[in-house]
Amino acid sequence: MASWRMAPRVPLVDEMIDSALLGLPDFETGHVWLVGAGPGDPGLLSVLALHALAGADVVVYDALVDARILRLAGSGARLDFAGKRGGRPSPSQPDISARLIGLAQEGKRVLRLKGGDPCVFGRGGEEALALAAAGVPFRIVPGITAGIGGLAYAGIPLTHRDTNSAVTFLTGHDSDGAVPGGLDWQAIARGAPVLVLYMAARHLPSIAERLVSGGRRSEEPVAVISKATTAAQRVVVSTLGEVATAAAGIEAPSIVVVGEVVRFHAALDWGRRPRRPPGLVPTAD
Ligand code: SAH
Repeated sequence: MASWRMAPRVPLVDEMIDSALLGLPDFETGHVWLVGAGPGDPGLLSVLALHALAGADVVVYDALVDARILRLAGSGARLDFAGKRGGRPSPSQPDISARLIGLAQEGKRVLRLKGGDPCVFGRGGEEALALAAAGVPFRIVPGITAGIGGLAYAGIPLTHRDTNSAVTFLTGHDSDGAVPGGLDWQAIARGAPVLVLYMAARHLPSIAERLVSGGRRSEEPVAVISKATTAAQRVVVSTLGEVATAAAGIEAPSIVVVGEVVRFHAALDWGRRPRRPPGLVPTAD
């Protein structure tokens, strides 16, 4: 009969971090840390995020946080899912904020872990306001947002001196799920040479149409980056006129970038290089 033994314990990353040298703050009891986990690749976590994972008593996390990142939590930490599960609606924002406040008041070290950056279309601001109103001490740890990190992983520089000295970030989805009516699409179309859209895939046909009627060229390049920074990343390059068809069926989550910077993808798509098998080094020839 096969016998099993525990795999040797991998040293916790936090044990390799000299907190004193780096001046990292203590994760105190009764505090909430609102932390960005980045867009997917666990390698994009910050040292502060790792430190928080190692010290937390409870991790309240969202659907877009990679399962491997959760495995970095200390063995005693409770993992508490705050997203949609099995078709059931996600807990309401006031419920999540109340949960964070309640846990902190019980004296827990609470890590609120969100995909990307907590304050970029991530309701981190709303949660921080609720904590401040309840007198719960908190800290905000920024993460790499999908609209920056995702572009880098697709070989699309967010700015380039030949193409743009401004960028607009926007959401293609308001809190009711519709194309944001409060946005001045004409002004957005004219505002910056590069637009980065979150939560825009569902409304891409009408968004592309609004941008073209606001003055953008229908030949302008557009990239849709799906599952950016993960092993399943996929990039569709098209134009404003054709993107609705070209990107139909692309898997969520996806980020949309409009502008001439998209052309750099052809030369800079570094992720397409064949990867070296682990453990092998290049030969000298
Ligand atoms: N706070 C997050 C954004 C949350 S809104 C951040 O800073 O990145 C959710 C939207 O983010 C998704 O609809 C998608 O547009 C984008 N997104 C998040 N992770 C992504 C990923 N790995 N690849 C592509 N888009 C992503």
